[in-house]
Amino acid sequence: MKQAKDIRDSYIRFFTERAHTFVKSSPVAPQDDPTLLFTNAGMNQFKSIFLGDNPKNLSRAVNSQKCMRVSGKHNDLEEVGVDHHHHTFFEMLGNWSFGDYYKKEAIKWAWELITDVWGLPKEKVYATVYTDDDDAYEIWNSETDIDPARIGRHGAEDNFWEMGETGPCGPCSEIHFDTGEGTCIYENDPNHTCGVNVEGCGRYVEIWNLVFMQYNRQKDGTLTELSAKHIDTGMGFERIVRVIQGVRSNYETDLFMPLIEKMEALSGKTYEFGEAGIPFRVIADHMRALVFSITDGVSPSNDGQGYVIRRILRRAYRYGRKLGFTEPFMHRLVPVVVSSMGEAFPEVAERADYVASVIEGEEARFDKTLETGLTRLEELAEAYRAAGKGVISGADVFLLYGTYGFPADLTALIAREYGLEADEEGFAEEMRKQKAHDRSLRAGGDDQGLSPDGWTILSHEGGTVFTGYDTARDTVQVKRYKCVDDHTGLAVLDKTPFYAEKGGQCGDRGEISFGDITLSVVDTIVWNDMIVHKLVSDVPLQESWFTQAGTAVIDTERREAIRRNHSATHLLQAALTEVLGDHVDQAGSRVDAESLRFDFTHFSALSSDEIVQVERLVHRWIMEDTPVAAEEKSIDAAKKEGAKALFGEKYGDTVRVVSMGEFSKELCGGTHIDRLGKIGPFKITGESSVSAGVRRVEAVSGAAAVELFQQTDALLKETATLLKVPREALPAKGAELIKTIRQLERELKEYTAQSAGKEAGEILAAAEKNRHGGVACLARNVGELEKDQFTAMVDEVSDRLKQPTHESVAVVLGAAVQGKAMVAALAGAAAAKILPAGEVVKAAASKVQGGGGGSPVRAQAGGKDPAGLDAAMEAAVTLMQERFSAADE
Ligand SMILES: [Zn+2]
Ligand SMILES: [Zn+2]
Repeated sequence: MKQAKDIRDSYIRFFTERAHTFVKSSPVAPQDDPTLLFTNAGMNQFKSIFLGDNPKNLSRAVNSQKCMRVSGKHNDLEEVGVDHHHHTFFEMLGNWSFGDYYKKEAIKWAWELITDVWGLPKEKVYATVYTDDDDAYEIWNSETDIDPARIGRHGAEDNFWEMGETGPCGPCSEIHFDTGEGTCIYENDPNHTCGVNVEGCGRYVEIWNLVFMQYNRQKDGTLTELSAKHIDTGMGFERIVRVIQGVRSNYETDLFMPLIEKMEALSGKTYEFGEAGIPFRVIADHMRALVFSITDGVSPSNDGQGYVIRRILRRAYRYGRKLGFTEPFMHRLVPVVVSSMGEAFPEVAERADYVASVIEGEEARFDKTLETGLTRLEELAEAYRAAGKGVISGADVFLLYGTYGFPADLTALIAREYGLEADEEGFAEEMRKQKAHDRSLRAGGDDQGLSPDGWTILSHEGGTVFTGYDTARDTVQVKRYKCVDDHTGLAVLDKTPFYAEKGGQCGDRGEISFGDITLSVVDTIVWNDMIVHKLVSDVPLQESWFTQAGTAVIDTERREAIRRNHSATHLLQAALTEVLGDHVDQAGSRVDAESLRFDFTHFSALSSDEIVQVERLVHRWIMEDTPVAAEEKSIDAAKKEGAKALFGEKYGDTVRVVSMGEFSKELCGGTHIDRLGKIGPFKITGESSVSAGVRRVEAVSGAAAVELFQQTDALLKETATLLKVPREALPAKGAELIKTIRQLERELKEYTAQSAGKEAGEILAAAEKNRHGGVACLARNVGELEKDQFTAMVDEVSDRLKQPTHESVAVVLGAAVQGKAMVAALAGAAAAKILPAGEVVKAAASKVQGGGGGSPVRAQAGGKDPAGLDAAMEAAVTLMQERFSAADE
């Protein structure tokens, strides 16, 4: 059997032999497209070329791209593993022509590769072309020996591809393969006839899509011919491996079987093709997604990509229970993924230990959550039953899902044990709301005009040269621009001193002037490989400005602060490694003008002592004033020297290595000070947890650190003056004050209880003078009180009414507490039989715009209007007199 890795290799070799450049897969978590949560197609990293910018002058490319699809029309997470062809993580093989070869070569080579190199039987291969695409039809007919009967014409739904509502698009030609009888689950369904492009058919599978980009869709919907035509192809790797290996399902290929076999060994259960195989398939699929995304720098969290990863992990863990796993097991599958994928994607091998520890930490955490969730669900079921409700609301089912990861069917199952149902319809509605919310979050990047349409392109030549390492000012020419509205715009330049947000360092700000006009640059970002300047103008933007040469100047004071913080971040990483150990790996960072933040792998909180050690070390290096060196070299040379790389970062063949003495060497494109002494003072301001196994340290340097010292000093001085002690004595003084306050609180409590006792006696005596039908009753507005005082008084009266001597007494008390009304009704046992306290409190509460209730002997209510308290007492008295008198007759 041909192995998956040989199939991948032979695809790449086939095209490199035909002058294609092999391009490494970009990370699965994209860094320069805010509108995209995960890389979802091979063409993502070439988007800028299709949009007209080709800095490396690439004409042909081939690769295998790591992709993730977790939501959207065709990929609901809940379907993955239930069937045999949906995946969260998958590879997409692709070959590209950028304005080079076109339809003829694309089709001829595709046919040659699948039938000649891979030897798929020609009589089982089908081709489709777009209805109007006579060229493609003719090429299939004349350039290949496919049976013309197996070339079909299809409509736009299947055979026309668009990047978005506007932008590059064109017809496509798909290749389908007949996998034979017995592979379609609808085979015996009278409403289904197996065939190419038949919805849901498992027998005729699409293996390759060749897109011919020949048009540009305008805003008004019309198509214009592109001057340079492109080829963009995509082949689902798991699917082609299944076809070539001749197995029934993607999961039976050697991409998934080793994982399934390992699970069989660990669980003692046997994999099956049908329903019993679902847990195996879910876990096998999800393991690959977890290993690749965590390797590329995503950590489980509660939003964005991290939330998707957390959901995937939890879904797999729950399915693990069905295989009998009762404790963390998924981390033990990491080496299996590494051994089958580590050769093609070396990053997963390099990062394996880290990935396993993150997964194990998150599993253990979720295990605890599941236990808590189970308890919560039991409580909830109990409460529903007590309230006489038979259906757990959709909102509660959703809460259990969102907070504890309980799927609706599990909740329904447990609810049934309590004789309850779960509102699954209501749950689905809540899910729809959540999804709409997710979608709006994802679309978030678009509101700043970062979409392919609306650009005016002045020059296609080359990319943007970044000159900001050495200079703060440059003469520039606009390559493309876009007016987002009258006063804001975007511009890409031929060269720029502006650093665009990348690698954790924030974008520069400053100004660009054209003649007399000066525009503010409020941010600089990377978008599809381009450095985009966000412009704001006081006067309405005019397109004519952008055709002249301009002067770009960065805000140097701000940049200096950023430089200091960035260099300090490198020192911080080196110091953390020295103090805590070699397991410290960068998990993310954020550097701006105000402060810096560094996330790294470590499993416990830093002690105060460790923080002091790290700060001392950083300062020692700063005071040594070592020069900072930056050097460009090949990525292999840099790695050989031991330069630290950031995982999930897209590195080119040449990288920049930033070194500080012997203690720090990192791959880094950021801007740094030239000597470490310029950092000035440095201070850690915070330490916290980001997720299981990842800690965060926050710090300040330079002027911000001086300011922090001054503020802290002023604060101490002010406090010491206020407390009239020298500052060294502040902690002792604080402890003493706390002790005194506790003592006073105790005394106050005793006093309140005493006075409540006194008042209760007085209230009961007053009630005795007011008997109706044998029941002593009284309602009294006690005026303004603290809540504790009122409660103490009510407790005291309530206690006394429990005694047999007071069983025929009823008392109502009202008070104004912090601007609100409080009413309590209390009754002895005999009085309560005639008139329950709940009824009295209701009558009284209606006069203070409130409501409440309680037991027959004690009821309480709150109200908005304390001015109504007298009327409330009157209503209570009237009701008590009436009912107690009547009972006597
Ligand atoms: Zn079928
Ligand atoms: Zn750096």
